[in-house]
This record gives sequence, C-alpha cells and structure tokens, in this order.
Amino acid sequence: MDYRCVKCGFRIKTLFVQYSPGNIRLMKCENCRAVADEYIECEIMILLIDLILHKPQAYRHLLYNVINRETVNLEGLLWKSTIGFILLDAYRSLLLRRSNEEHSSPMNFSSLVWLCRKMLKDVVFGNIMFLCVFLLASRFCLNTSAGVSR
Ligand SMILES: [Zn+2]
Repeated sequence: MDYRCVKCGFRIKTLFVQYSPGNIRLMKCENCRAVADEYIECEIMILLIDLILHKPQAYRHLLYNVINRETVNLEGLLWKSTIGFILLDAYRSLLLRRSNEEHSSPMNFSSLVWLCRKMLKDVVFGNIMFLCVFLLASRFCLNTSAGVSR
C-alpha cells in the first residue's frame, strides 16, 4: 500500500517502524522533512475534531493512510453514506416544516405518511438536482469528464 505525507502529500513507503510492541518510530517525509503522519499516535477524537475543522492533514490521513482501497468496498461505503445523508436531510426538512406549521391541526397516520413521502421525494429530487448542477459546473469549470475525476 502506498502512503502519503499528511503535510505535503508526498508518497512514502511506510509511516512508522516498529521496534517492539508499543515502541514505534514515526517516519519523516523526504520532501518536507516533517513527521509524515502524526495522527497515527493521536486518539480518534482529535482526528474527528480536525476533520470537523476541515484540516487537510486530517483528510489526507483518513483518505490515504487509513482507508485501504484494496480491502474497503468504497462503492458500498458511498451508497450507505448517500442513503444516510438523504435520510438525515429528510429528517431535517421534516423538522423545519413541522416547526413552521405548529399552529395547524394535529396529524393523523395518513397525513403523516403523506408528509413523509412528500418530504423524501422533495429531498431526493433536490439532492439529485444539486449533484447534477454541481457535476455539470465542475465539468465545465475543470474541463474534465465526471468519470475520470476523483
Ligand atoms: Zn511531506
């Protein structure tokens, strides 16, 4: 597997050398002379906070040095993430709509089912339209095809 330096993205063969159990030495990048991936020794909460803060080093650690492309089913992970995102977006949209209609009559089961169907349809359609516009804009702006770009 090919690893990357989290600071500059330079390819390196290994991230650390293990001398004995619990005794490792982190490798330095040949390009920038910094420790190639210090997130190896960090706890998952620090990585999560850096991901929330959109630090590029945290994303490089996760995408290049943790997720192994040969063993992880990226397509399945993408579909699961997409379905989870759509369900969470539908729930958010449902909460916003219910907070705007607080003074309306109480809901029965059929109106709740109708509202959920409408909400899911709106969210799926809205996200598909967003992705289509985003892919077309990126294709025109970057002058690449959507299938080739990563
Ligand atoms: Zn580097």
